[in-house]
Amino acid sequence: MNSGVDFFFDSLFSTNVWVPDPEAVWVSAKLLKDYNLGDENVVLQISDGRVQYPVAPPSGLPPLANPDILEGENDLTALSFLHEPAVLHNLRVRFLDYSSIYTYCGIVLVALNPYDQLPIYGEEVIDAYSGQDMADMEPHIFSVAEEAYRTMTREEKNQSIIISGESGAGKTVSAKFTMRYFAVVGGAAQQTSVEERVLASNPIMESIGNAKTTRNDNSSRFGKYIEIGFGRKGDIIGANMRTYLLEKSRVVFQASQERNYHIFYQLCASRDLPEMRVLKLGGAETFRYTNQGGEDSMQIPGTDDVVDLERTRNAFTILGVPPDQQMELFRILAAVLHLGNVNIQASGRGGDRSYIDERSLSVFSKLLGVERTQMAHWLCHRRLTVGGEMLVKPMPGQQSLEARDALAKHVYGQLFTWTVTRLNSALRAQSEKPKSFIGVLDIYGFETFERNSFEQFCINYANEKLQQQFNRHVFQLEQEEYVREELPWSRIEFSDNQPCIALIEGQLGLLDLLDEECRMPKGSEESWARKLYDQHQSNNPSPHFRKPRMSNTAFIILHFADMVQYECDGFLDKNRDTVFEEPINILRASQVSPLVSELFQQKPVGGSLSLSEGKSSLPNGSLRSGPGMRAQREHKLTVGFQFRQSLQLLMDTLNSTTPHYIRCIKPNDLKEPFMFDPKRAVQQLRACGVLETIRISAAGYPSRWTYAEFFSRYRVLLRGGGVQTQEQIQASCQRALPELIPDPEQYCFGKTKVFFRAGQVALLERLRAERL
Ligand code: ADP
Ligand code: MG
Repeated sequence: MNSGVDFFFDSLFSTNVWVPDPEAVWVSAKLLKDYNLGDENVVLQISDGRVQYPVAPPSGLPPLANPDILEGENDLTALSFLHEPAVLHNLRVRFLDYSSIYTYCGIVLVALNPYDQLPIYGEEVIDAYSGQDMADMEPHIFSVAEEAYRTMTREEKNQSIIISGESGAGKTVSAKFTMRYFAVVGGAAQQTSVEERVLASNPIMESIGNAKTTRNDNSSRFGKYIEIGFGRKGDIIGANMRTYLLEKSRVVFQASQERNYHIFYQLCASRDLPEMRVLKLGGAETFRYTNQGGEDSMQIPGTDDVVDLERTRNAFTILGVPPDQQMELFRILAAVLHLGNVNIQASGRGGDRSYIDERSLSVFSKLLGVERTQMAHWLCHRRLTVGGEMLVKPMPGQQSLEARDALAKHVYGQLFTWTVTRLNSALRAQSEKPKSFIGVLDIYGFETFERNSFEQFCINYANEKLQQQFNRHVFQLEQEEYVREELPWSRIEFSDNQPCIALIEGQLGLLDLLDEECRMPKGSEESWARKLYDQHQSNNPSPHFRKPRMSNTAFIILHFADMVQYECDGFLDKNRDTVFEEPINILRASQVSPLVSELFQQKPVGGSLSLSEGKSSLPNGSLRSGPGMRAQREHKLTVGFQFRQSLQLLMDTLNSTTPHYIRCIKPNDLKEPFMFDPKRAVQQLRACGVLETIRISAAGYPSRWTYAEFFSRYRVLLRGGGVQTQEQIQASCQRALPELIPDPEQYCFGKTKVFFRAGQVALLERLRAERL
C-alpha cells in the first residue's frame, strides 16, 4: 500500500540514527522493521536495548548518523549529515576517546576546556606548528595562530583572532597561548624586551580586571582587544590594547562566594611588607569592599596573594612603571578600601541628614592628600541648581552611602583606564611603525541568568554584533568560493541578525529610548518600559521584542542564541553612571599625589576605550537644567552610548582584518578534568553560533572534494579505470554522478572541485560499501 514509504525505509534498513534523550540530549539508535506492526512497521532500537514504536514515516525520521569513516573527523563541516547530534557526538568522541580538545568547524576552532594540564603547549609544539599549513596539522590553538601569522606576512594584511565563550570556558587561557605563540615566532633574533613586555601586560590586567566568581576563580570582568604589532621582518615591535565595559559594581559589591578584584587581596596579604605599612591595611576580612563574599572565599585554592603581588609588581617594572609610581597606585587602591569603611549613618529629624564616622575617612584623606573636612562635607551634602540658583542640601544617609560607593567605583574605573593608557604607552612601538598587526579579542560570550540586567544586555548586544560580523564573513567566504569555482549562482540561506541589532541600537531603539529617558527630569524605568512596549510591540512591532505577560518592568529580546528577559530595574542609573562633582573636585586638588589629580582631569585620560572612563561628573542636579548643550553632553556620556560607539569601532577594526574564530566551550560546571556534560555543551554550541555555522554550511554545499580526491575515494563507482589526466578524471566524475545521484540539485561541478549537499557523501559511502 504505502510502497513509497516502504521503499524509502528499505533503503534505510538498519541505519543508525539519533533520538532525543532527556539526559544524554541525543542517543544512538537503529531503525528496524517490525513485520508484526503492519503499515507502520518501523521501530527504533536504542543502543541500550530499549525499543520505541513506531516511527512516523517519513517526516518523523530522526537525524541520521554519519558513516563510520567520518567518526572523530577533525572538521565538523566535513560530516555528511550536519546536525546537532552529529556535532555533539563527534566532539565527545574526540574529547573523551582521543583527549583532543580542539576541533575545526569550518573556519572556527572549537576548544573544549580540559580542566587539566596538557603537554601540548611547549616550545617544541610551537616549533612543530610554525611554518606549517593549517590543513596539514591537527586542530590546535597554535594552528590558528600560525594561520593568522602566515596570512599576515603573506598578504601584508592585518588579522584578528576572535575568542568567545562563556565564563570559565578558557578564553583568557587561549588568548595567552596565542600571545605566547606570537612572542616565540615573532621574537627577534637579538633578545629584545618587547615580547616580554607584551606578555607582562597579562598579569597586570588580571590583577586589576579579574576576580573570583562562582564560575571561574580568575574571571575577567572586562573585554579586551589587544593588537600585536609586527615589523618588516615579522617580529613583534609593539602592542596596543583597548578594553570594554569593566564591571565596576564589583568594587563595592560582591555576591556570596565571590571576591573583589585580585589586586585588593594581594595588597591586604602583603600589608606587613615595610613599604606597605603606610597603607594602613588590615586583612581583607576587615574591609567592607573585600569581605562581602564571605570568609571562606577570601582565599583562592592554589594561589598565594603575596606571591601574586610580587608578580604584579615585577610586571609593572618590566613595563617601565617605576616603584614610586606603583606605590602611588597602591595608595589609591588602599584609599578605596578605606573609603568603603567610612560609615555614614542617618541623623537629624527623620534621618534626612548624614553623620559620618571620621576614622576611615581620615586615613582615606591622608593617603590621597585631600582635605578631610571638605571630603566629609561633600559626602553628606549635594549641590543643586534650582531656578538658576545654587543650593547646598544635606543628603539622607542612604543617598550618602550611594554617593560614597559611586565615588569608589569612579576612582577605580579611572585607575583602570589610567593603567591601560600607561601600559599602552610602554608597549608602543619605538623604532618603526608596525607594518601590520594581529588583534586578539578576549570578550565575554552570550550570557543569560535567572535575572538579567544592564550588564547582560550590553554583553548580549556585543555578541549580536560579533555574530553578525561572523555570519557575514562566513557568507562572503562561501560566495567567493562559489565565484572562484564558477558555480552557477546559487542562493545561500543565511540569517542576518540585523533586525535584532536595529532593535537595540537603531533609531528609537532600546538604547535611544534609554538615553532619552535618562535625560528626562522625572525619567523612570516604568516609563521607559512603557515606551519600549509602545514603540516595539504596538507601533512598529519587532519580531525580536516581547513584553512579558506577567511584568510591566521587563522586556524580552529574542537573540540569535536564546530568548532573554531583562529586568528594567537599575538600567537608568547604570546607563547614567553619575557621580557627584564635588568630591571629584576635591580629589583633583590633591596636594600629595600628582597621579590622583591626573586621574580626575576633566578630559578622559588617553585613548583607551574603557567604558569606565570619562564618565559624567555632572551632579544629578544639573540634569534638571533642561535640554540644550548640557543634555547633549550627557547623552554622549551615557554608558550605553559609549558602548555602542566602542563596539562600532571594534567592528570597523575587525572588518578591516582577516578574522579567525575560536569558540571556547566549558564541558562541565564542576571544573572536572575531561568530563563531558552533553546538555551544557549543546547549550553553548547553540549560544556561540557553532550550530548556526553548521546550519549555514548545511544549507549550501557542505561537502566539497577536488576531482582527484573524489576520484581516488570513489573509483569503484566510476567507469574508465585507466584514466590519468586531470581532464579525464574530471570527465569521468561528471559522467558518473548523474547516475549515482538522481537529483541534480544535490551536487554541482566547479572548476576544480565537486560540491555536494548535505547527506550525499553518506549516500556515496553506502554505494561504495555495496560495491566493495
Ligand atoms: P574564561 O576567560 O573563558 O572565563 P579562563 O581562560 O580564565 O576562562 O579559564 C578558566 C580555567 O579553565 C583556567 O583557569 C584553567 O584552569 C582552565 N583552562 C582553560 N583552558 C585550559 C587549557 N587549554 N588547558 C588547561 N586548563 C585550561
Ligand atoms: Mg577570561
